[in-house]
Amino acid sequence: MHIAVIGTGYIGLVSGTCFAESGNDVVCIDIDRQKIDSLKENILPIYEPGLEELVRRNQSAGRLTFSTDLAAGINRSQLVFIGVGTPQSESGAADLRAVWAVADAIREQADESKIVVVKSTVPVGTNAKVAERLNKGPHKHRTASNPEFLKEGYAVDDFMKPDRVVVGARDSEVAELLRELHAPFLRSGHPLLVMSPESAEMTKYVFNCMLATKISFINEMANLCERLKADINDVRQGMGHDARIGFQFLHPGVGYGGSCFPKDVCAMIALAKDVGVAPRVLQAVDQVNESQKSVLLGKLLALFDENLADKTVAVWGLAFKPRTDDIREAPSLVLIQQLLEAGAEVRAFDPEALANVKRVFGDRITYCDRAYGTTERADALAIVTEWQEFRNIDFEVLRRLMRRPIIADGRNLYDPAHMAQLGFTYASIGRQTTGPDLPPAPTLTLAAKTSQPVGTEPIA
Ligand code: NAD
Repeated sequence: MHIAVIGTGYIGLVSGTCFAESGNDVVCIDIDRQKIDSLKENILPIYEPGLEELVRRNQSAGRLTFSTDLAAGINRSQLVFIGVGTPQSESGAADLRAVWAVADAIREQADESKIVVVKSTVPVGTNAKVAERLNKGPHKHRTASNPEFLKEGYAVDDFMKPDRVVVGARDSEVAELLRELHAPFLRSGHPLLVMSPESAEMTKYVFNCMLATKISFINEMANLCERLKADINDVRQGMGHDARIGFQFLHPGVGYGGSCFPKDVCAMIALAKDVGVAPRVLQAVDQVNESQKSVLLGKLLALFDENLADKTVAVWGLAFKPRTDDIREAPSLVLIQQLLEAGAEVRAFDPEALANVKRVFGDRITYCDRAYGTTERADALAIVTEWQEFRNIDFEVLRRLMRRPIIADGRNLYDPAHMAQLGFTYASIGRQTTGPDLPPAPTLTLAAKTSQPVGTEPIA
């Protein structure tokens, strides 16, 4: 098939490349000329394992091209995918300006009827509005919704082997064409589900809201565990082995970030309010997440007698999750800003995201290209993102490098008892702090119940 993908960001680039890999002729279009020029040279704007090799192979095979010329791109294509960004607007709702701009451009520049597929995450009803906009022009275009469920860090694999493909289409011919397009990815028998565009749009938001809810839920339980002297890891085991619950997305941490969960939860809240439904659960999910991003700062302050001025804090892990260089809404940015405001000196390391973080903080922090080197003369180490390389650490080396052996681990990478044996003071999430340099323990009194620990503010 001849396919145009408009918007060559994370989703557009992965989708376009994987469609080319399965034998289609694909042009990826973007308004960002610099991005397109780099892609023509096989220089990718993002880090995603396995993607560069696929871009290189398909581009050299002539199945994948990059262009800024929308008219030429769509007029050689039967299927046109819209994969532009839908960021959060001031009001919390999704900002659909890029989607409308592309729909208008297709209407004005297409020289015949097209099938236009919205892959961007968009509020329920957007597909119908895209169709309405398109069909004000000379040609009658057909539309579909095909939301994307891939995870950054595993994007190629997820796209090639999806658990399911969702297609929202009222036209059965369009649905069949999309079934044919996805057939190579569904050989293992996973389904392609055809539904209305409204249900497809809703599925994507409900999916992201569910995952975000699980994260905020376990984080709230972790904060409670700390106060009640329980261990969230044991609790996870106790509940996760039950098939009704399972383990996925129930890892306590420093809150979710990235380009999807935060904005999609807010978009769903806005959508609910629009139709007169109180989004009580989702509001709580968002609020818990916002406060969870401050949990590590709270732990560090407690360990340093509420004073971080002139302390050096090493930060490991800046991307919003491992295996990506994406720092959109990353909890690390909140922590670094808080540390700077508290007067601390920050030394930061991430295997992939340093350049992106440098664009945010400039020379206000020190960027290190090695994990161990980051901790040199540090008073504390804060772990924000669980890159694989942080799991097996030579703690002897770490202790020699650090000024004080203090770790605030936002991802529960190590065993608290073992860390204490090694001489570290070790604070983690939902578990008791261990080691020689303990902060005063919160007591289980009425005062503790009414005080307001960081990360557990009451929800209005
Ligand atoms: P992105 O910001 O990485 O990429 C968007 C691209 O669209 C940019 O390159 C931008 O230059 C381009 N663009 C903007 N306006 C344009 C126009 N008028 N014409 C051509 N190109 C234009 O965004 P992303 O992360 O790829 O997300 C895209 C959509 O996919 C969003 O709706 C997002 O919610 C959804 N989504 C993202 C993920 C993810 O993991 N990133 C997963 C599932 C769904």
